Amino acid sequence: MFDDLTDLYQQLILDHNKSPRNFRVLPNANRTAQGANPICGDNYTIYARMDGDVVKEVSFQGTGCAISKASASILTESLKGKTMAEVKSLFGKVHDMVTTGNWNGDVGKLAALAGVHKFPVRVKCALLPWHAALAAVEGRDETVSTETEKE
Ligand code: ZN
Repeated sequence: MFDDLTDLYQQLILDHNKSPRNFRVLPNANRTAQGANPICGDNYTIYARMDGDVVKEVSFQGTGCAISKASASILTESLKGKTMAEVKSLFGKVHDMVTTGNWNGDVGKLAALAGVHKFPVRVKCALLPWHAALAAVEGRDETVSTETEKE
């Protein structure tokens, strides 16, 4: 399934899947949300500690495929220190990137997720942690399912 990804991005995704960052329960989290993708079997909890409008820490727990786990891992590294507005803006960028393969500006290692657009069935996997993280940051303590959300 990785045939069309460049080696660099493939390595990044494999590395984050093998050694996910911030893969733990966050004991002092004040926000959580669940994300479920019943089609693939991806199931994650996103934990966030917000200080006012700013994301101080993010972590995740759960199980799923390589793409969803790598995406969640990269997410936790990307959201730390962001304001809620920045999280929303980044969510939009990632959504566009994963669905079209194109992006604007410097997105760093998030670019690894752009290759996912070539695998439509994996787009939901890649976006699931982001939908859940957005719900968490916005204080919606809920389960986000890929099968009820609008694309
Ligand atoms: Zn998946």
